[in-house]
Order: sequence, then structure tokens, then C-alpha cells
Amino acid sequence: MVHPIEYLKGVGPQRADLLKKELGIFTFNDLLHHFPYRHIDKTKVMKVIDLTPAVEFAQVKGRLTYSEVAGEKSARRLVAYLRDETGTIELTWFKGITWIQKMLRSGEPYTAFGRLSFFMGNPQIVHPEIEPLVSEAAGAKSHLEPVYSTTEKLKARGLGGKQIGKLVQVLLDALNRRDLPENLPESIIQKGHLVGRYEAYGAIHFPKTSTEHALALRRLKFEELFITQLRHARLKSERHRLSKGVVFGKVGELFNSFYKEHLPFSLTGAQKRVLKEVRIDTASGHQMNRLLQGDVGSGKTIVALLAMLLAIDNGYQSCLMAPTEILAQQHYLSISALLKDMAVPVFILTGSTKAAVRRQLLKDLAAGEIKILIGTHALIEEVVQFQKLGLAIVDEQHRFGVAQRARLWKKATVPPHVLVMTATPIPRTLAMTAYGDLDYSVMDELPPGRQPITTVHRYDTHRAKVMDFIREEVTAGRQAYIIFPLIEESDKLDYENLMQGYENVKAFFPEPRYWISMVHGRQASEVKEANMQRFVSGDTQIMVSTTVIEVGVNVPNASVMVIESAEKFGLSQLHQLRGRVGRGADKSYCILMTATKLGTDARERIRIMTSTSSGFEIAEKDLELRGPGEIEGTRQSGALNLRLADLVKDKAMLEAARNFAEQLVEDDPELETAENLRLKSYLVSLQGKTPWSRIS
Ligand code: ADP
Ligand code: MG
Repeated sequence: MVHPIEYLKGVGPQRADLLKKELGIFTFNDLLHHFPYRHIDKTKVMKVIDLTPAVEFAQVKGRLTYSEVAGEKSARRLVAYLRDETGTIELTWFKGITWIQKMLRSGEPYTAFGRLSFFMGNPQIVHPEIEPLVSEAAGAKSHLEPVYSTTEKLKARGLGGKQIGKLVQVLLDALNRRDLPENLPESIIQKGHLVGRYEAYGAIHFPKTSTEHALALRRLKFEELFITQLRHARLKSERHRLSKGVVFGKVGELFNSFYKEHLPFSLTGAQKRVLKEVRIDTASGHQMNRLLQGDVGSGKTIVALLAMLLAIDNGYQSCLMAPTEILAQQHYLSISALLKDMAVPVFILTGSTKAAVRRQLLKDLAAGEIKILIGTHALIEEVVQFQKLGLAIVDEQHRFGVAQRARLWKKATVPPHVLVMTATPIPRTLAMTAYGDLDYSVMDELPPGRQPITTVHRYDTHRAKVMDFIREEVTAGRQAYIIFPLIEESDKLDYENLMQGYENVKAFFPEPRYWISMVHGRQASEVKEANMQRFVSGDTQIMVSTTVIEVGVNVPNASVMVIESAEKFGLSQLHQLRGRVGRGADKSYCILMTATKLGTDARERIRIMTSTSSGFEIAEKDLELRGPGEIEGTRQSGALNLRLADLVKDKAMLEAARNFAEQLVEDDPELETAENLRLKSYLVSLQGKTPWSRIS
């Protein structure tokens, strides 16, 4: 199966080169996995009268009435007419004219098949497949024909979809059962009602019936999902059993006194549960690798802080890494404030930390005098050395690449515990696939007293009314955000829109009665920070901004979020932005402004936003609308190399595959029983072939 593709009969070195370059087909195995993207049902014969633009491919049986060569030079073509008892269809060839003309016999019966198009209201097929009908009664060929993707270059070298199909046929003919041995344990095949692996590969390419194809597809999808889940389950189980980790053996002085005396509120049930999970993990002697998903405003910061206190109590340092300077600053301020009555040194390190301060800080860090370090990407630089790093927390992880995260873990001899926090809810199926080797906590509960945010949709033409509403809220002492899209910080047009929007807002809210902050990506970070700070402290009532404030910013007094050109934002971004309000006790509003003309997808996004406030529900919809490849954070993870399975449509199968995999690893972690041996050897054969998302 690992034979180079040039060894296949009919390929040879030149075609092999093209197959490699154009389709990434290097081996027999690659070709076998070049699945047809659909099958054409040639069992159906249509009447001309039934042909409509909705029909994509059509097979027609009839008598050839007449053919002629028309047009000059490049427009030269062969036109033939095929008539059945209901009408006539036109067949056209631009290539191979002479040869085809010789073959066609007027007055004889033929079957024609191909992609249907309409020219001046008349049905036609360009470059049809055409075959003489031996006898009227013989009817059309009866099978499902696979359709393969190919490229223009390959076509030019005689490797169109059909020829690729022929190569696959040659390959399948050459393969026997031993080349495609069963890899799933018998009991799973039985319980899952799966067809055999060898049969499945045959039938996914060349099924006899659509049922046979469906069964083959089901088997191979299951295998794909099961193997992914099995690898995750084994990594996880291995880590639980074998990895070394820093031991946080006790809950000590700092944790307890903070918990008893300085906690500004009582924790939600979800917060307590996650803390408990963290405590169990960090005391286990194995490295914690935990993904914490908590919807916006669910209170992840305090969980992070308590975990860091736990580390300090056990003699270790910890760090908290945030994706932006503003967010790092905010964490620094709020954590310092929470710890103000306790002797815990908290420091911040970002790209804008002054050289002298930085030098001292690095020294203190290496000497172990700094217990909590908060920062941005600056934390993962080589020069940043801890004395004893025991816990690394990454906030809003989807902005960090896997490789960047890995650099954090290298900062201690025994890898530190890792807690990855995200407020971008990831649908369960996606989390199971992309982050399946991580332990997984969910905070699905908001702190008490939060009022639901009212979300409405308003057209641009009603801006004046929206401004009036903001004025009412501001007059009542609250604050408002007005967000403009700036997809690319360098986009000139977006930038001008923002500036114009700012002027516009100023006209509604003149100084000195009102004060406005403006924050965008082109500002120097001090300016950005100062503007942000004025809004946080309440000196300005209105924040006009781009999405730089999207993640994590916390101003509980803000009660209105206006999103301009909301149709330009994706669902998860809209949800993040909305999460900036509704963080205090006041009733909050999110107003989605759009143009009056909206595309279907945009309209759907707005509809979803106005109908639910659950991040998890929104994430599911987002996955449905955009597909997994587009969901942030998973694109680079490399873990989603599913060829057949679809995380939206095959959810139930994924759950089943996961259950089977976990049960199997629990019963037989090393895959040593006779029944699991073929699975083990299959996994060994895969080693090193798939890029994996491993956090540690
Ligand atoms: P996120 O999960 O989005 O990072 P934060 O940690 O910023 O959320 O918390 C959001 C707000 O909720 C903050 O103002 C925080 O002080 C407050 N908060 C967090 N936990 C609780 C709680 N258990 N009870 C009341 N307020 C809480
Ligand atoms: Mg947060």
C-alpha cells in the first residue's frame, strides 16, 4: 500500500509526477483514499420533456436525427440532435469532431449522458458520453459511476476524472483482502453493524447499489472517527498513567485565606466544580492538560487566580498569558486588585515593558521572587526564565498557535500544569476531535444576578433612534460601546468608516457633556491603553472602537453594545462582542446595525444572535454555517484531517466512536488482548503519518 504510485499499471513516472503535484497522490494508499465526491446514477433514463435546469446530469435515450459541423475556427463544433418520443436534445462537441462524426449514424438509437445545460431554452449536453443502443430493449447501463476530482493540468495529460477512476479500478483489481486487512476488533464490527474493511473500500468507489455505497461510507467514516478518538483516548490515558507532573499536594495558607477572606463573591457551582477538577489533576502526580471552556462572563479569571494561589502554596511560580496587551493589562489590574491585601508579588511583562524594568523583572523571576507573572506573547520568549514554574494558564487560547504554547511548557524540567481557557465556545464535536486528548471542563453557568441581554436588529436608517436610546442609558449613568468592523487593521476603507463613525457619534454626543474614548489597532499602545483606561474608570461614557476590545475586556457598568455593519461579522465574533455588556447588575442591550439589504447567511446570523444568548448554541450554528475548517483555533491544529466524516452531520456517529474508543482503552490500555492486536498493528503502521495536535 505504500508502493509509489508510478508502479501502478498505466501510471509511469511522468503521470506519477503530476499526480503527486496536483492531487498529492504519492502512493497506492493515497489513490485508494482519493474518494469519488459523488456517484452518477446511470440507472435512470430521462425523457426530454422532463429536463429542467434543476437536473444536473441527464441520461437520454433516443434516435439520432441529424448531425452537422458548424462554426469557424475556434467556434467550430459538431452538433447532433437526439430525439425521443417527447422532444429533442442537442449534443455538442468542440473536440474530437472528425472522429466522433465518423462514428455517429443518423437514424440509429443512442444513449447520451452528461451535464445538462440550456441554450436559448433548449436542453443540451456538451461533450456527452454517447453509445449506440444495441437493442432498444437492452436499456441503459445499470450502475453507479464514481466521479473524481481532478485538475486542468491532469486533464490535459489524459488524467480526467474518468481516467482516474480507471486507475482506481486497476488498483482495486490488484488488491486482495490481505492488502486491506481488517483493523477494527470483531466486537466493534458486530456492535456497530459495520461492513468489512476490504468490501468497504471496493464499494465506496464502485458500488453496485446506493445501499452498498451507504454502508461502505458508514464503515469508513466510523473507522476514521474511531481511530481519531482512539488516539486521543490513548494519549490521555498514557498521560494520566505515565506522565510526570508537579505535585500540588496541599491546599495552603494563601489559597485558604483568599478563599475565606478576600473572595468578593461566592463562587458559582460551575466555578467550584472546575476548581475541584484542577485540584485533583494537580495533585495526581501527572501533568494537567485541561481545556476550560466558559462562556463570556462565566468568571474564568477567578478560577485562574485560585489555581495560581494553589501553585504558590506549593512552592511554585505561575504565569497567565493573554492574547493582547490590553487584556494582559486588565488581568494584571484586576488580579492585583483582588490580591491587594495579600503579600503576593504580581508582575506584568509585555512587549511594551521598558528595558530597565524588564531586566530587573527577569532577574527576579529567575530568582523565584515573582510568584505570578502576567503577560502577552512576551512570556514565551527564550530569555524569560522561571525558577520553578508550576502552572501555566493561557487565556483565550484560540489566538495562540500550538507551537507557541509548547514553548511555555519547556520552561521547567518537569512540565508545568497547563490550563487553557477559552470563551470561544467550541462545539462539542469539534472539541472532541480537535482537542480530544485534553481533559475538558465546561463552565456553563453564569454568576447569579445577571440579567439576560436583550439583542435587537436595527437598520442603518434608524441610527438616530439608536443614538437616542444610548443617550437615555448614558444619562442614567451607564456606558456604551459602539463597534465598527475593522477586519484588517490596515484596511483603509474600514479605517475611514471608523473615523467617520466617530465624527458622527461626536455630533450626537458633544463634549463637554459627553466624553468619548476611541480605540483602534493603529494607535500606539500607550494611546490605546489610556483611552481604554478612561472608559474603564468611567471618565468617558462612550467607547468607539474596532474589534480590538473583542476579547476579555470587563467594564460592568457598560450596558449598551452597538455593533455597526453587524452583517460583516461572524457569529462567534458577534457573541464575543455582545459579551462585553451584561457583566453588571444593569439590564443590558446589544443592538445589531445593518444595511437594509442582507444576504441569506448574514440574515441567518442576525436571526441566531437575536434568538439565543447561549455561546454553545451559537457555536453549533457557526459550525453548521461555516464548516469546521473555518472555526478559529482549529485551522492550524492539524487535527481535523477527516476525509469522509462530517462533524455536523455525523455527530451521533462521533459520539458512538468516542464511547467505543474510551471503553476499549479502559479495558485494554496497551491493546494487548488478541482481539485488539490488529488494531494495535494498524496504529503502529500509521505512526508519524498524521499531524497531531498535542498540547504537551
Ligand atoms: P470570563 O469568563 O469572561 O473571563 P470574568 O472572569 O472576566 O469572565 O468575569 C466576569 C465578571 O463576573 C467579572 O466582573 C467578575 O468579577 C464577575 N464574577 C465572576 N465570578 C463571579 C461570581 N461567582 N459571582 C459574581 N460575580 C462573578
Ligand atoms: Mg476572561
